[in-house]
Amino acid sequence: MLREDDCTARDISRALGIREKEVYEHLPHVERSFGNGSSVISRPAQCLHCGFVFKKRTRFTSPGKCPVCRSEAISPPVYGIKEGSEKS
Ligand SMILES: [Zn+2]
Repeated sequence: MLREDDCTARDISRALGIREKEVYEHLPHVERSFGNGSSVISRPAQCLHCGFVFKKRTRFTSPGKCPVCRSEAISPPVYGIKEGSEKS
């Protein structure tokens, strides 16, 4: 699924029938399972209100609140697989 589309943790949780929290726990293992330099890439979460980007945030978790404007309107991080060994 991650190979075909970039998706949010919520998309993954729906597709697999697991909780979002479990998705975050699985992502590091997914990254390892692809091997050969592949990695789970993410577009960082961003505040929809002021545009603050959560670059320093731990990679696989989704922030709840913007530290700048305290808005809870946060776009979730988006994940996809970048393959290291195969040419696409
Ligand atoms: Zn903000």
